[in-house]
Amino acid sequence: MIIKKLKDKLLEKRYRVILVMAFLLITGVVALISRKSEMELRSLPFFPGEFKEIALTFDDGPDPRATPKILDMLYKEDVKATFFVVGKMVEKYPYLLRQIWKAGHDIGNHTYSHPDLTKLSKEKILEELDKTRIVIKKITGRDTYLFRPPGGRYSNKVIVTATLSGYKMILWTDYPGDYGCPSSKPIYQRTVSGAEDEGIILLHNGLDTTLKALPKIISELKKNKYKLVTISQLMEEIREKETVYFEKFEREQKARPLPLEMVVTE
Ligand SMILES: [Zn+2]
Repeated sequence: MIIKKLKDKLLEKRYRVILVMAFLLITGVVALISRKSEMELRSLPFFPGEFKEIALTFDDGPDPRATPKILDMLYKEDVKATFFVVGKMVEKYPYLLRQIWKAGHDIGNHTYSHPDLTKLSKEKILEELDKTRIVIKKITGRDTYLFRPPGGRYSNKVIVTATLSGYKMILWTDYPGDYGCPSSKPIYQRTVSGAEDEGIILLHNGLDTTLKALPKIISELKKNKYKLVTISQLMEEIREKETVYFEKFEREQKARPLPLEMVVTE
């Protein structure tokens, strides 16, 4: 009886050792596979395509002198851009906003009177944004919640106030300083050297130097395999890439057995 018990215990112990060894072996292999796939995932670029994407944006219009010229250039190059318009300019030149919209460009809100939003109360910030949103909707029929603060000046109050009302603040990654720049060459050079995939270029709607630099900027970006897209398209692309990336990550996680499930219990 005593011998049988001892034998059972040994047997039990032997099985335990085998189980523990098997557990260690499997977790080791799983850990190696997991590490490899994690590293692969980390090093995976977001769906590398043939083209890089960049968004051209024009602030401060519409302007009766410059906007038709910009639209003409964009049409000739078959390029779509985004216009961050000022509400009171839209009220003055509604036909220009209609032209922008009919040509298939994206429209964003650049406030009603172009003030420094950081100096305004919450109510005034919303008034500036809402008035322009309403005037844009009246003309285009589309409600846009994209906005860019004048001069790129914003504070926590600006972000919170706008975000709580559904607005999305869009800044930029590439600003050649066309405002106040006396010649077109540095505008063109700085824009092209600051270009990057999923970048946003800020230019102004109404300057001769910008108008002169624009055809060169577009042709150089195209030569460098950039696809020019609108802000809405860029946001959609980024969202899709992120979804694909995280779906893949989730699948990998599910395919990986959790070590906890393999713990040997008494
Ligand atoms: Zn502006």
